[in-house]
Amino acid sequence: MKEQDYRHPIKHMIHLLHLLQMNHVEVEQLLAGKEQTDLLPPEEIQCLQSICGFMDEIYGGFLICRADDKQQILYANRKFLHMVQCETIEDLRAYTNNSFQQVVYPKDLNIAAERSYSQTSEEQAEQEPEEYRIKTKSGSIRWVEDSSRLFHCEEIGDVICSFIEDITDKRARQHKQLNDALDRANMAAIAKNAFLTNISHDIRTPLNAILGFTSLAKDSLYDMAALQDYLNRIETASKKLLDMLNKVLEVTALSTSDELIEEECNLCTMGQEVYDFLRPHAEEKNLFYTLDCSDVKHSDIYADRQKLKQMMLNLVNNAITYTESGGTVSITITEEDEGSEQDAVYHVQVKDTGIGISEDFINHIFEPFSREKNSTLSGVHSIGLGLTIVKGIVDKMGGSIEAKSAESQGSTFTVTLRLRTQTQSDVDTRKAAMPAKRSILLVEDNEINREIEADLLERMGFIIDTAENGEVALQKITLASPDTYDLVLLDLRMPVMDGWQTATAIRHLPDPFLANIPIIALSASIFLEDYQKSKESEINAHLAKPLNLPVLLETIDELIGK
Ligand code: ADP
Repeated sequence: MKEQDYRHPIKHMIHLLHLLQMNHVEVEQLLAGKEQTDLLPPEEIQCLQSICGFMDEIYGGFLICRADDKQQILYANRKFLHMVQCETIEDLRAYTNNSFQQVVYPKDLNIAAERSYSQTSEEQAEQEPEEYRIKTKSGSIRWVEDSSRLFHCEEIGDVICSFIEDITDKRARQHKQLNDALDRANMAAIAKNAFLTNISHDIRTPLNAILGFTSLAKDSLYDMAALQDYLNRIETASKKLLDMLNKVLEVTALSTSDELIEEECNLCTMGQEVYDFLRPHAEEKNLFYTLDCSDVKHSDIYADRQKLKQMMLNLVNNAITYTESGGTVSITITEEDEGSEQDAVYHVQVKDTGIGISEDFINHIFEPFSREKNSTLSGVHSIGLGLTIVKGIVDKMGGSIEAKSAESQGSTFTVTLRLRTQTQSDVDTRKAAMPAKRSILLVEDNEINREIEADLLERMGFIIDTAENGEVALQKITLASPDTYDLVLLDLRMPVMDGWQTATAIRHLPDPFLANIPIIALSASIFLEDYQKSKESEINAHLAKPLNLPVLLETIDELIGK
């Protein structure tokens, strides 16, 4: 043996073990003081004792085998003996016929054999841990992870030292996690298919109506009453289609990483806006429709205004939709008493006395595309995404939602949210920093465009007045005091007085203040001559339709400042 082998504790250990084994001295007996030998001086026995004692303390099993075909066992620590359910090394030798091969589960022999083969033949001292199964004395199977190291000892040849960890439980956990992930992936695939099937069916219904009524309308060009009826039906189906697509987009956005925005808003104002927006719908059905925010002490909060409002809109819209004429729909917003300095817990409750929801269905109510089977009950064509969106928003905000209902007894949806509150100093600073609102006169003949554009601009914080053609606009400007309008947004092709005529008339007004008011033209036309005409009419900027909000805002900023 080379001198350096003695300095290597494991090689030293192997050397001593080999010596004892060759002389038929039982190591365990010797170390336990039950056997004596003069083969080794007492300090060597003590040294072997401390190495073996240390090996019994390490985390997993430790085993030394010869690197031959049989893999004769030279040493096993207590943890390994315990792993294979043996009491002593003698017990292990008897059970395995002193061959590590016997411990390995037969089907995994090639993994274990391959491992020692590659270590010997490729002279590879260290390699990746191998996972394989072993058989315990009682016949049970355990999974182990084996990190082996090959040593060459002069007198014995190659020896494998293995650190063996029992990973049966870890593998079971991994297996379960893998299975769960697989289940989730399968569920996602099923959900995606169901989504596509549902959506194509749901889109087809209003599309068929649009195509069918368009064809009927074409055949009824001279029957105004019938034509009006068909156009109304086409409009209803188109709105349904738009609503559906918006909901699909919303659901998709919620399931992707669409982060929430935290902005200053007022919970009660928002409640009021939702209430007002749906009031015509409630009045149509002659409902007793109420809003109560009296219990909210901290209404100024930070939240994603658009999402919070949408959540309320969906709930209140459903309550009105599924309540028969003469029923009651109430919105109640309350605040819990024990809020902190920074936040408070709010409950938004939407309660109706409508048709209610069956016990079976209520458990699935937040799932996408779920709707009451018996849709004749309500007579409403539903896509079943509104509540999925509500739940998605509530989840994103870290809140909870509860649905309580019984058939024909109405429903109550309660959303609970912890929201960050604005401090008094936040509110004061904001009010002080708030610039005076800019006002815009929007001139547009198409009613729908006018409404959409006005709504968009109002949301951006502008005060909007509207005019349906150039003549009305000119009247409004002439009659107004000079600082009433900061800017005119002008459609170009309009009946009565078109945009260019209007602009020219404004520029010729006697009051220089009014005559110089900034004008932005909005036009669907992309002809160069139109741009030329706008220039001649002293229009400050000419933008293309449909409205590109960021470009419009930038142009407004350039003309009248932020
Ligand atoms: P949609 O996107 O079509 O509006 P929702 O997800 O909002 O659908 O609602 C799904 C279904 O839940 C509806 O078809 C209806 O059957 C039921 N539902 C929702 N709200 C109520 C309510 N307040 N009262 C009775 N049924 C309701």
